[in-house]
Amino acid sequence: MKKKLSLKWKIGLYLAGFAGLLVVLLFVFQIVLLEPMYEQYKIKAVQSSGDEIAAALDTEALEETIMRNSMQNDMCITVTYSNTETTMRNQQCTAFANMTTLEKTTLIGYAAVSKNKTYTSVSESNLFENLNQNDDSFRRVIYTRIAEGDEGTAVIMIYSGISPINAATSTLKMQLLYISGIILLAVVLLTVMINRSFAKPLAMINEAAKQLPSGQYDVSPKTNRYKEAEELNQTLKTAASDIKKADKAKRDLIANVSHDLRTPLTMISGYGEMMRDLPGEKTDENIQVIIDESRRLTAIVNDLLDLSKLQENRIVLNQEVFDLTGMIETEIRKYDVYHYQDGFDIEVNLAEEALVNADRKRMEQVFNNFIINAINYSGNSRRIIINEKVNNGIVRTEIQDFGEGIAKDKIGDIWDRYYKVDKEHVRVTQGSGIGLSIVKEILDLHHAKYGVVSEEGKGSTFWFEMPVEKKI
Ligand code: ADP
Repeated sequence: MKKKLSLKWKIGLYLAGFAGLLVVLLFVFQIVLLEPMYEQYKIKAVQSSGDEIAAALDTEALEETIMRNSMQNDMCITVTYSNTETTMRNQQCTAFANMTTLEKTTLIGYAAVSKNKTYTSVSESNLFENLNQNDDSFRRVIYTRIAEGDEGTAVIMIYSGISPINAATSTLKMQLLYISGIILLAVVLLTVMINRSFAKPLAMINEAAKQLPSGQYDVSPKTNRYKEAEELNQTLKTAASDIKKADKAKRDLIANVSHDLRTPLTMISGYGEMMRDLPGEKTDENIQVIIDESRRLTAIVNDLLDLSKLQENRIVLNQEVFDLTGMIETEIRKYDVYHYQDGFDIEVNLAEEALVNADRKRMEQVFNNFIINAINYSGNSRRIIINEKVNNGIVRTEIQDFGEGIAKDKIGDIWDRYYKVDKEHVRVTQGSGIGLSIVKEILDLHHAKYGVVSEEGKGSTFWFEMPVEKKI
């Protein structure tokens, strides 16, 4: 796999890129483009002043317009009427006074032949040397416009020096150097800060996650700096506690399965040895014990295999439409023996007929599991009620006992594989200890609703609901 940059370096790189862009932009606009942009601005200012003055020709506002424009934009302006030879200009300006007549005539000539009778020249000053005797690199704009007024042709000339910006540029260059330094420092500081607030919590959560496989489930990195890290941390904590639970369930499963397998195995080998060593013990009753215990073993192993198949989705339901009431009636007869042998009182209130589309064998399994549990956990009451009712197209079956009940905090766990509230309960009948997990898988496969209502000391009611099929 290509080696990926860590978040810290990525953030640093992005910030450095952004800072670099900023410095380049500053350099381009403040240094490279400063002069041409300033020059363009000056030319525009001169041209718009020219337009304004041309519009003010023949009006009383002409003088005021000349004065205002020259002051505002630091320009020399002259307006000369060729008929009357009168010239208007701002007095402080000496630029035009230094120009020879030939130079002026040349400019006017250019203007006269140009399209808008306007000529704008931008130059260093070698064309008109006497204008720039003091400073060779002095650039300036001279605008010449020939306009027709009521009093004859007027020549508007505007002169504007483009102040040398070399000095400004070198100041800006210095500043840019400082700014680059400050930005670099800011990038480093920001990277460190962002790393502390964003990348570090992630690294800590990652470290904690790495500890999970080694059985360190108590993860609590201090990462509450921002919402996403806090959420990720929470997710990790939930995952850790789930893994811890699953790990415990796995260990419980092994312990419980071994325990439940050992009991019948001990009985089988104990009875076998007894029959071998003591001649009078080879009785039918003892052989029956061995057969019963072998059956119990088979039941446990079958249940385990069944559950694992169900959980891996390897079971395909064999669905058919059948009468649930009829099925319950048949199944319940198996438990008559508990009435006669152990004094159980099983009350049955069934609906007339309730056709359901389900796997018959699997539904028998569900019902028998509920009944066996009710018998196992009914305590001294030995009373069980089975209710089946159809309401609004739904058949609800309830199996109620009046035994020990289930504590509120345990009720959510009883459907888990091999969960036992009380590990030492006395079994009246056989149970593999994973009955409810199998029930849950089967009912889930049928998309049936199910649940339990229970109160400690008063008993439990297990229920499931299925849609009733219409008779064809
Ligand atoms: P088990 O073979 O232990 O009965 P189950 O999966 O059938 O296994 O049941 C899981 C646990 O749920 C039981 O160990 C018991 O603690 C609880 N439980 C199930 N049914 C009842 C009930 N009718 N009354 C009280 N507790 C029950």
